[in-house]
Amino acid sequence: MQLEDIGTVGVVGAGTMGNGIAQVAATAGYDVVMRDVEQQFVSAGFDAIDRSLDRLVRKEELTQAEADRARGRIEGTTDLADLRDAHLVVEAVTEDMGVKQSVFGDLDDTCGPETVLATNTSTLSITTIASVTDRPDRVVGLHFMNPVPVMKGVEVVEGEKTSEETLALGRAFAQAVGKETWDADDKPGFVVNRILMPWINEGVRAYDEGIAGKADIDRGMTLGTNVPMGPLELADHIGLDVVLDASETLHEELGDRYQPAYLLKRKVAAGDLGKKTGAGFYEYER
Ligand code: NAD
Repeated sequence: MQLEDIGTVGVVGAGTMGNGIAQVAATAGYDVVMRDVEQQFVSAGFDAIDRSLDRLVRKEELTQAEADRARGRIEGTTDLADLRDAHLVVEAVTEDMGVKQSVFGDLDDTCGPETVLATNTSTLSITTIASVTDRPDRVVGLHFMNPVPVMKGVEVVEGEKTSEETLALGRAFAQAVGKETWDADDKPGFVVNRILMPWINEGVRAYDEGIAGKADIDRGMTLGTNVPMGPLELADHIGLDVVLDASETLHEELGDRYQPAYLLKRKVAAGDLGKKTGAGFYEYER
C-alpha cells in the first residue's frame, strides 16, 4: 500500500483523539468513516468536529466552503463492518490492551488484507497489539498529539514486525494530513509520554503535598520553563483517566519511579476526568 492508494481512512473511537484525527484526515481530502460503540459517542465526536471547524473558519485558517467539504467527507457509524473498504485505519479507543486487541482482531477480520492498521496508543506495546492480527507487518503506531487539529507532531512507532513499507506509509500519511513526524521504538511511552507522564505526576504530587496551590504550580511551570500549559491544566486537557492509564502502563513496565500519583487515582475514581467531564483539577464550562 502506497500513500496514493489511500482514499478512505477509518477511525475507530470518536473521542478526544478520534474526532480530531477524523477531522484532519477529512480536511486533507480523505473520505473518513468514524466508528464508535454507541451513536451518542459518534454524535459527540461530530459536535467536537463542528466546533473545531467553526473555530478554524473564525481564525481564517479554513474557508467556510473548505470546512463544509471536510465535514461532508466524514461518515459516522457504530457498525465496524462499515470500515471494510478503508485503506488505512487509525484506532483511537480507550487505552486498554484488552480493548485494543479486541478492536484489532475485529479489524483484521473486517478489512482487506492490504489495509494498514495504525494505533494511536500513548504507551501500550504496538507489537502486543499487532500480535492478535495476521498482518503484524502492516501494524504501526501513529501517535497524534492533543488537540489533533492544532498540534503539529506525530510519533511514528515501529513494532517488532512492522515493515519498512508500513513505516514509510505511516510517516507519509501523517505528513499528508499536515503533521511532522519523528520515529520511536516500541518501548513503553515511546518518546513523549515516557518523559511527560512523570512530569505530570510530579505536578499532581506537588499539589497533593501542598507545595503550592494548583494555579501556582501551573504558573510556576509555565513562567519558569516556558511551556504553554502547566502539568495540572495539561492533565485536564488530556483526560485524567488517560493520564492514569498511561501512568499505570509505565509503572508496570518501568517500575516505581513511574507510579501514578494518589490524587490522580482519586479524581478518576470520582469521575472528574478533566475538560471532557467539566471538572478535573479545574472546573470547565461545557
Ligand atoms: P476518549 O476517552 O476521549 O475516547 C475513546 C473513545 O473510544 C470513546 O468514545 C469510546 O466510546 C470509544 N471506544 C471504546 N471502545 C471502542 C470500540 N471497541 N470501538 C469503537 N470505539 C470504542 O479517549 P482519547 O483521549 O481519545 O484516547 C484514545 C487513545 O488515544 C488512547 O489510546 C489514548 O492513550 C491515546 N491518546 C490520547 C491523547 C490525549 O491527550 N487524550 C493523546 C495522544 C494519544
